[in-house]
Amino acid sequence: MGLSGIEIYKKLPKTNCGKCGVPTCLAFAMKLAAGQAELDACPDISDDVKEEIGEASAPPVRTVVIGTGDRAVKLGGETVLFRHEKRFENPPAFTLLLSDSMDEATIASKLGKFKETTYERVGVVLRPELVAIKGESGDATAFGALVEKVCNETDTGLVLMNEDTEALSQAAKACSDRKPLLYAATRENVETMGNLAKELSCPLAVKGNNLDELAEVSEKLIGMGLKDLVLDSGARTSGKALEDQIIIRRSALMKKFKPFGFSTIVFPCEMTDNPMKETMIACQMVAKYGGVIVLSEIEGHSIFPLLLASMNIFTDPQRPMAVEQKIYEIGAPNESSPVLITGNFSLTYFIVSGEVESSRVPSHLLVKDTEGLSVLTAWAAGKFGADTIAPFVKKSGIEDMVKHRKLVIPGYLATISGELEEELPDWEILIGPREASHLPAYLKQWSA
Ligand code: SF4
Repeated sequence: MGLSGIEIYKKLPKTNCGKCGVPTCLAFAMKLAAGQAELDACPDISDDVKEEIGEASAPPVRTVVIGTGDRAVKLGGETVLFRHEKRFENPPAFTLLLSDSMDEATIASKLGKFKETTYERVGVVLRPELVAIKGESGDATAFGALVEKVCNETDTGLVLMNEDTEALSQAAKACSDRKPLLYAATRENVETMGNLAKELSCPLAVKGNNLDELAEVSEKLIGMGLKDLVLDSGARTSGKALEDQIIIRRSALMKKFKPFGFSTIVFPCEMTDNPMKETMIACQMVAKYGGVIVLSEIEGHSIFPLLLASMNIFTDPQRPMAVEQKIYEIGAPNESSPVLITGNFSLTYFIVSGEVESSRVPSHLLVKDTEGLSVLTAWAAGKFGADTIAPFVKKSGIEDMVKHRKLVIPGYLATISGELEEELPDWEILIGPREASHLPAYLKQWSA
């Protein structure tokens, strides 16, 4: 961040009106400096000050959006070199490469796998996000036709790649409403590509043959008024690509070097012919600091570990993953089905619900908000004791859904069963197993 909380505070209205959702201007300034609030939350800042603070407090790696609507992909917005310093903001976009020199069957197969690849983990949808379409045939019509095909068959964001700026321009104009990333401005075509990106309001990739050239072209584009850039250092070996990624990120964060203050595009698909190696290079780029990661194939055995690696690295380490507090119906429970309760830490929920599901005993699972803490931690923190569980059960609506009054609590909370029976006098408190893996056997006894 360019400005400290105190520096931002000096520019705020200082009326402490609270309209921004925090009680004082100073608190708001501190949140802004920490990247935890948006400037727009204060309605009383003048446009001039907004511009001044906005510019100075913008993340050193600019946030760039590729695509529109639900499939818009945000890149960059990063403020730290290492995740443990705060968090990483926007995960990389895994991108399938298609070429207009591929035959129809190959394109159909690759695109088919791209479209069907989606996973859900702890309530988060994971999938490859972009399709890069490369003009290699030298035929502008073939390039345009492939772009049209991908547009018709998907709603995904696009990367349009063609050294023929005229062919690129035609295809980009035909799908400019999708806000594709245009690839790429180089030393030779910088003005043409800069003007095209400006005209279509599309993000623009910048390619140099080395970092010096990249900085030179990027600086020129910034001078032309372009803001949404994505950097390609031209490295096509894993070692050099890693080195460049680190230099780019360090320059942006530590030296505030504007020409490198953008996310990047990297090409593991051009660094090896070995699919396994390609996946390993891509994984390296997830950790250090790839933005658009272009792959030759989307195969479950390689994309799934990449998506999980990305999810792990880009999860906020200060915020436990949590699911919504509510009654989850597993199977098709009725008024005689078991009622179980647990906390809302995602991992707890998914393990417990998975075991209940595998028991094939339809059940009501009450998930109480424990601020993302696991059962025992939540109990120790006073968020999952009898005094908090009882009001939740009463308000949850479960009493209208079942005829019986039997509540299964986690085995580790056996100690609160007496207290909970006092708080819920109409309910019989049953102590479930300590381990979720024993739930199927426990629930089968229930239905026997
Ligand atoms: S809305 Fe603006 S003026 Fe009011 S407290 Fe927040 S920062 Fe201060």
